[in-house]
Amino acid sequence: MKKRIAISLAAAVIAAAALIYLYFTGEGKGAGIPCLVYQFTGLYCSGCGASRALRSVLHLDFYQALRYNAFFTLMLPLMGGYFCALIYSYIRFGKDMISKKIPMKFVWILIAIAVIFGVIRNIPFFSFLAPVTL
Ligand SMILES: [Zn+2]
Repeated sequence: MKKRIAISLAAAVIAAAALIYLYFTGEGKGAGIPCLVYQFTGLYCSGCGASRALRSVLHLDFYQALRYNAFFTLMLPLMGGYFCALIYSYIRFGKDMISKKIPMKFVWILIAIAVIFGVIRNIPFFSFLAPVTL
C-alpha cells in the first residue's frame, strides 16, 4: 500500500510540475511539442492546440482554450475524472478497476468524435475549430 501511494504521489508531482511549467510558458505557446501531422501535411489533427488549450485552462481563460482546441477542452473534465479515478483505484486495489467499467461503445464514440473533429477543423466552413494563432 505504501509503495502504491509513493508511486501515485510521484506521478502527481510529475504531473503538477508539467502543469506549472505549462502555466509559466509564454502567451500563445503550449508545451512546445511540435505536431508531426501538421508539420508533414499542413493539416490540423485532433490534438493541435491542445497544450495551448491546457495552458489557457490553467489561466482560467476557457474561451481561449475553446479557440485553441474545443474537443480537448470539453474532454478535460472527463479525462481528469478518469485519471483521478484511475489513481484512486491503483492506490486502493493495486490495479485498474475503472477501465473495464467503461463501455467500449462509449470509447468508440469518443474516438469517432475525435476523428471527425480532426477532419472538419481543416474544412474552411469549420475554420472556427482550427487552432487560433496569436
Ligand atoms: Zn496536430
